[in-house]
Amino acid sequence: MQPDLLIARFGELWLKGDNRHQFTARLQKNLAGALRAAGLRGGQLRIHEARMMWEPGNASDLPAAFEIFRNTPGLANVSACVRAPKNIEALGDAAVELVRQTWTGPQSTFVCRARRVDKHFPENGPLIERTIGDRIGHVVSNWRVDLRTPAHTLLVEILRDFACVSATNADCVGGLPVGTAGRGLLLLSGGLDSPVAGFLAQKRGCELDAVYFHSPPYIPEASREKVEALARNLAARQGGLRLHVAHFTEIQNAIHSACDPKLTVILYRRFMYRIAAAIAERAGIQTLCTGESLGQVASQTLENLRTVDRLTDKLTLRPLIGQDKSEIVAVAHRIGTYETSILPAEDCCTLFVPRHPAVRAPEGVLEANEAKLDVQALIDEALARTVVVQL
Ligand code: ATP
Ligand code: MG
Repeated sequence: MQPDLLIARFGELWLKGDNRHQFTARLQKNLAGALRAAGLRGGQLRIHEARMMWEPGNASDLPAAFEIFRNTPGLANVSACVRAPKNIEALGDAAVELVRQTWTGPQSTFVCRARRVDKHFPENGPLIERTIGDRIGHVVSNWRVDLRTPAHTLLVEILRDFACVSATNADCVGGLPVGTAGRGLLLLSGGLDSPVAGFLAQKRGCELDAVYFHSPPYIPEASREKVEALARNLAARQGGLRLHVAHFTEIQNAIHSACDPKLTVILYRRFMYRIAAAIAERAGIQTLCTGESLGQVASQTLENLRTVDRLTDKLTLRPLIGQDKSEIVAVAHRIGTYETSILPAEDCCTLFVPRHPAVRAPEGVLEANEAKLDVQALIDEALARTVVVQL
């Protein structure tokens, strides 16, 4: 017996009123795109009985699709289901068989839960849970029932059209479908933080473009490839993504040769914000997003963040502002960017940077340093040499 149906439930999206349909339609489009991108073809995706359902063309596609559902914003949880005749004996038989095959690991804890949408089904929820819970209890006889925090849940769902059981259930990322909150431009480096920031913006419905500042030949191609791999992770959640690769070498050279070394990082950052704002403007995007976290490094003090904010008229989202590194790392693991982010690769932010960069830089001092540069010409050149990679 193999699960042959995924059922996922909507999260916060369900609170939406009259425009709920727009949200579910976008979610369906995002899922279809992600399934297609993963090469899972021939399945059928539909919204039925207030749930998102997917029937695979080939049952062996189910585990891969399960992971896609888990990582797609807008869903609360997902189950790998087996359908059974709509009576309690048949459902119990299916549950026993499924548990026998699936819960093969070491001794653990479990619970049986029932959702009875079809109120004509003779047994009510608690009775279904007790009856089927008893039966599976005989299969995993040395396991303990845990009503609060079970490691495994056997879910019985009695819908109007059919009934099913599932022994594999997981929480999804929650949030809102990507694309329902408008668009943003993510400043994406190869580090741990910015991909996680991008994911969190996506999770609240923001559809992303990304910009990466690249400095050849100082920075190797491997760094750029790493950023592309991270961008692909974000792209999968929204059916594609445009990565703008901005040429940063001349700007770094100019700052290095003319400006106070203590200000190097914050001056880099000021150019990044100006160029990002210009790219966003051209793409019709009003919001920037960065991986900055308050106080994490010298360039991320309140004072330094404020000086970059004042350079553009865009709204800048900083989803990580209140997060510790350990929290960021946990999300990176969850979304699958950690392994790529920790690959050794240089980033332009470490180029020509002194050991003790300024944590506080008065605006007047920054402007006096920039007065030694032809700021507009440098920006124009970087923009002219920006290339777009469609992922
Ligand atoms: P990350 O882990 O995202 O690289 P970080 O902790 O290294 O962040 P910084 O190097 O100070 O922090 O960068 C702060 C933010 O500036 C990054 O999160 C990212 O949004 C942006 N940024 C830094 N370097 C680049 C780059 N080369 N291209 C695009 N954005 C960048
Ligand atoms: Mg970095």
